[in-house]
Amino acid sequence: MGEIDTIRAANQRAIEYLNTVDERRVFPDQAAVEGLDGFNEALPDSSSDPMETLALLNDLGTPATVTNNGGRYFGFVIGATLPAAAAAERLASAWDQCGSSFVNSPVAARIETVATNWVLDILDLPRESQIGFGTSATACGLSMLAVARRTLLKRKGWDIDVDGLVGAPEVKLMVSETIHITIKKAAKLLGFGLNRLLIAPCDEDGRVIVNQMPEIDDMTIVCLQAGEVNKGSFDRFSEIIPVAHAAGAWVHVDGAFGLWARASETKKHLTHGVELADSWTTDGHKWLNTPYDGAMAICGHADEFAATLNSDAVYSTTEPFSQKNLVLEFSRRARGIPIWAALRSLGRQGVDEMVTRHCAQAVRLAEGLRGHGVTVLNDVVINQVLCTLGNEQKNAALIQRISEAGEIWFGPSKWRGESVFRLSVSSWRTTDEDIERAIDAIGRAIAEL
Ligand SMILES: *Cc1c(COP(=O)(O)O)cnc(C)c1O
Repeated sequence: MGEIDTIRAANQRAIEYLNTVDERRVFPDQAAVEGLDGFNEALPDSSSDPMETLALLNDLGTPATVTNNGGRYFGFVIGATLPAAAAAERLASAWDQCGSSFVNSPVAARIETVATNWVLDILDLPRESQIGFGTSATACGLSMLAVARRTLLKRKGWDIDVDGLVGAPEVKLMVSETIHITIKKAAKLLGFGLNRLLIAPCDEDGRVIVNQMPEIDDMTIVCLQAGEVNKGSFDRFSEIIPVAHAAGAWVHVDGAFGLWARASETKKHLTHGVELADSWTTDGHKWLNTPYDGAMAICGHADEFAATLNSDAVYSTTEPFSQKNLVLEFSRRARGIPIWAALRSLGRQGVDEMVTRHCAQAVRLAEGLRGHGVTVLNDVVINQVLCTLGNEQKNAALIQRISEAGEIWFGPSKWRGESVFRLSVSSWRTTDEDIERAIDAIGRAIAEL
């Protein structure tokens, strides 16, 4: 079969899949998982019809998917994909653009510039900032910590680019006690040393306690959170950031999903003062409901940002803010395209409506679960509901039962060392009816335990 027939067939399978997301099991059954053994073939010696490869992918792969692109997946903080974003992704994949710079792809460069301006607008962050559309909040967080460290060292007259770190004045990284594991990963990779981190104690909501913060100075990067991963809480930006800046520190905010609360008129107050930070990271693939991998490294010090990540090769152009100078990759997919498409199709009001709706649905979920005897551990400020049945054994039994039944899905977590389970409402498809089904499914499972 030729290219066009194969692509058409892939589109057909994709459409069939999307047509069934509402009825599919949310987590694959045992038979589907066992079916994945069919992929364990030896590398073929010879070529075959591409249609055969597609058929194998569909026959074994499709039944074993997790239906996070549906409305009843409440695990992690995983959004579905909006129609405009999915459609843009499909077309852009046919274009196969290398979104490094204008000369590689004028269309990618132009759309990602528009997306940059729109993201700064809807998140109400300093308009002179630049955005690198990277693969993940992990990668973007790593980039931003590198920019922060390089800048603080430069202010002391130390050039890390040429002199490295040996003999350099130490840059300290302050993180909240509840910081996301991926910031620790970035800290490790960049050589901050986990034992050398300054840990800021947190309150019961997972927010940094202002008067218990470690001492910070002009060689400290202060890393705060907009949307703590368990409780969805926000650090006290308007209190902490001015103090940190007065000391000469750099403030980075991990807002992988929570920064989008800023796009909601009713939730924006939670992020008050976040705009004062020096840099931020957020994901498209979580709350904005764009496809993987789509994330944003946002930095108010545009020149420092582009200088840190510069990769102007002799054979490439030197536009300072081309994407190759704002992300880790040199060759890259133009990840800003589906983000642009999501923002264009929803508009300011559509994003506000989606975020606000998820927050209201999370409140209803918490209320319904309390009715079934579940202890809800957090003040449901945004889309996260943190729960327990009282001990690890009960929580694990509930999760297992829910997973087997396949009607909804959520996973375990730990809060202050204790077993908990966590539901997050982040899919554009989740209806109020899905929320009632989730409450009923959990109620039934508890009754059966
Ligand atoms: C998911 C998450 C991350 C990591 O984001 P990825 O895009 O998965 O790398 C970082 N911080 C928080 C708070 C998160 O929820």
